[in-house]
Amino acid sequence: MNKIRVTIWNEYHHEKKEGKARDLYPNGMHMTLAEKLADDGLEIRVATLDMPEHGLTDEVLNSTDVLLWWGHCRHDDVEDRIAAKVARRVKDGMGLVALHSAHYSKPFRLLMGTDCNLRWRNWGERGRVWTVNPTHPIAKGIPSSFMLEAEEMYGEFFNIPNPDDLIFVTWWEGGEVFRGGCTFTRGLGKIFYFHPGHETCPSYHNDTVIKVIRNGIDWANPAGYQFENPGHFRDPDEPIVNKDV
Ligand code: ZN
Repeated sequence: MNKIRVTIWNEYHHEKKEGKARDLYPNGMHMTLAEKLADDGLEIRVATLDMPEHGLTDEVLNSTDVLLWWGHCRHDDVEDRIAAKVARRVKDGMGLVALHSAHYSKPFRLLMGTDCNLRWRNWGERGRVWTVNPTHPIAKGIPSSFMLEAEEMYGEFFNIPNPDDLIFVTWWEGGEVFRGGCTFTRGLGKIFYFHPGHETCPSYHNDTVIKVIRNGIDWANPAGYQFENPGHFRDPDEPIVNKDV
């Protein structure tokens, strides 16, 4: 079986500075994710904001089956041209797993068509993630609920279009709820949004969170499908009696 070609994109900003983010993710969240997700089924590359073209050259994008995106405070530093290219590739079939504050990234907002605002509070509170769609492939092997011991609260109202599937709903210690795991389809591309992963919180050291992301990669993988001759005239396969219209 072909390996799924995954590119993990990170703005890689907070983890370069001394403090909790670097303590938790010393080589950057992209490297932690690459290590935790590594298995025989994946071929993983990483890309970061400060690389030329943000590490997302045509060559990289055209050979990526599923793109993971983590961004937080430097969304505006992503060039519009590159964001548009990412969105275009998703519509052509590349899968996208949008992590944590990628809800507010340029590519995700382009693909959603709404402002994707939400309510937030960064007090490192407990959040219980409920699996509300247990037969969905992304929920495979995931318990009926699991706890995030300390995470940034993201809550409703979350201004996204109605998702195709809602898979996880998170309850927060402070009382809010959040549609924290949901899917969309844009063109041929499958998109999974999953909220855990604030840079000073340990969620990417949580095996269940990693398992959800791994399932998301499997689900979003286009599996080599190529749209045949999109938008062009096509000769018929069967003989047609021309009605001379
Ligand atoms: Zn955050």
